[in-house]
Amino acid sequence: MAETPHFQRIALIGIGLIGSSIARAVKALGLADEIAVQTRREETLERARALDLGTSYHLSAEDAVEGADLVILCAPVGAYGAIAETISGALKPGAILTDVGSVKEYVVDVVAPHVPDGVHFIPGHPIAGTENSGPDAGFPELFVGRWCILTPVEGTEETAINKLGAFWSAMGSAVEVMECKHHDLVLAITSHLPHLIAYNIVGTADDLAGVTKSEVIKFSASGFRDFTRIAASDPVMWRDVFLTNREAVLEMLGRFSEDLSALQRMVRNGDGPGMQALFTRTRDIRRNIIEAGQDTPMPDFGRGAGASKDDDAE
Ligand code: NAP
Repeated sequence: MAETPHFQRIALIGIGLIGSSIARAVKALGLADEIAVQTRREETLERARALDLGTSYHLSAEDAVEGADLVILCAPVGAYGAIAETISGALKPGAILTDVGSVKEYVVDVVAPHVPDGVHFIPGHPIAGTENSGPDAGFPELFVGRWCILTPVEGTEETAINKLGAFWSAMGSAVEVMECKHHDLVLAITSHLPHLIAYNIVGTADDLAGVTKSEVIKFSASGFRDFTRIAASDPVMWRDVFLTNREAVLEMLGRFSEDLSALQRMVRNGDGPGMQALFTRTRDIRRNIIEAGQDTPMPDFGRGAGASKDDDAE
């Protein structure tokens, strides 16, 4: 098992759900001497201070990264280019610069040009999250039992990759290394498309003239409710995902539309065996996810048993 890593100063640029979960886990596990918390709005910074998430608090990203041996970008992906440009001159030689963004090729494109020689840039993505945002939404166990994908560019020092991998392992994640383009394709089908579908179906239901809003809410437990949780995810974060992973999402959407047309045909033609065969195959996927420990086997996601934190794989 990899040795538990220790950092002298970790800088978190952005302190919402993901940044504050990292802060809480780092504190609980003693993974760093100092945690420099940065966010752009005074109000969020004050909230982070009140929650005691760090050891120093900054509105300036440059100040936060000063002397840090691990810098983690935890803001929406669309802000990364500007942040990278701002902190570039303040990064400490030998530091690891990483991120938690839900898309990876775009991140390499906008951040890598600003990374000075001697700084190890290793993009990352914890496949863990909820539909909640802001510093209050985080919790230290968010990454336990989840995957964290690292997408280092060619030529990155192995020791830096291993140290960052050990950091995520210490927070409870299983780590996988892959190419950024591959990451974006895999996540387009497992996360981005499901969100797009959820946003769409909830929007359609909201637009339906013949069904009142109160009926949609009243009878939501019949399936619709599960879409509404995903469709409640942060609008800014998801806007950025679809702006920055356009090609992979469109490719998967094309496949999805073709399959939907085939299913539509089955419904129109009353093709019972066809539908039954498809639904049997999809039920097996659910079984495999449960066997892999990626969700609870409890009926209705364990809601009846008082489960409070539905988690999501962004
Ligand atoms: P969040 O809770 O909304 O927090 C966002 C943080 O970024 C806040 O500190 C916010 O600052 C700051 N921020 C927002 N817009 C900014 C801008 N234009 N420039 C600079 N800072 C800005 O977000 P989150 O859910 O933690 O997501 C953060 C990152 O994690 C995203 O890149 C997302 O793709 C990735 N991610 C999210 C999930 C998930 O389920 N949410 C899962 C995996 C990965 P202020 O409050 O001060 O404005």
